[in-house]
Amino acid sequence: MTTRLEARALELAYPSGARALAGVNLKVAAGELLSIVGPNGAGKSTLLRCLAGLLAPTAGAVEIDGAPLGALRPLERARRVAFVPQFLPAVPDVLVEDFVLGGRYAHIDRWRGPTRADYEAVERALSACGAAELRERLLTELSGGQRQRVLLARAAAQSAPVIVVDEPTAALDPAHQVAVFALLASLAREGRCVVLATHELSLASRASDTIALLVCGQVRAVGAPLEVLQPRLLREVYGPDLLIEARDGGVLVAPWARLG
Ligand code: ADP
Repeated sequence: MTTRLEARALELAYPSGARALAGVNLKVAAGELLSIVGPNGAGKSTLLRCLAGLLAPTAGAVEIDGAPLGALRPLERARRVAFVPQFLPAVPDVLVEDFVLGGRYAHIDRWRGPTRADYEAVERALSACGAAELRERLLTELSGGQRQRVLLARAAAQSAPVIVVDEPTAALDPAHQVAVFALLASLAREGRCVVLATHELSLASRASDTIALLVCGQVRAVGAPLEVLQPRLLREVYGPDLLIEARDGGVLVAPWARLG
């Protein structure tokens, strides 16, 4: 498979001096779903922001289809990569359909305004993300799960071949977690390159083509889910309090300990 997104020898030190990424190499192909897992503070969000071009690495490079991401103008970058944050810092008081149309900003001509193609892209994204019935609701009045679907719809409407998603299931109940992973897998099956950070190791094991385990800013292991989610490695990284069982081609991983 041809590589679509590539990180090479990525280093990121924050101005505070914190070294969040230390020599990260990753390749993702079109149609591939890559889950980045690892403990809190491992550097997952930092890596995603570099992969989406929102944070410039201190050293190393990110390339999309062989083009250095850092050299692209913002609109050109937005046509190639969509970023879905964990949550919106401020939720705008707008209708869902207008918010999702906002995802088309890199395609809309400033003078002509949105065209039929833009509205069609919005419709496709809303229905692909199970958010069509939310179209006329206010974003501020949605539940966490509904808002997550709308954030994904906005990214899908952006029609970028690469989608980078930060912890999409963090605030969701189990049924919505399953739905979001199914949705991300379907976006990958459409041919997009989907990269997400998650703590949902069980669902990631079933939905992902590849898992990268990040520890202290370095890729500790990368490969097929069953290769990476090995009990010994997981206990080394996360500690002993885990239930780990191979099941149905995936791996069931849950926090498990005698409490009190
Ligand atoms: P994760 O997403 O895996 O929890 P992060 O990428 O958020 O990890 O953080 C990686 C490291 O970088 C942590 O040590 C964190 O404290 C540090 N860090 C994250 N964001 C900033 C920032 N804006 N300024 C300084 N340090 C940061």
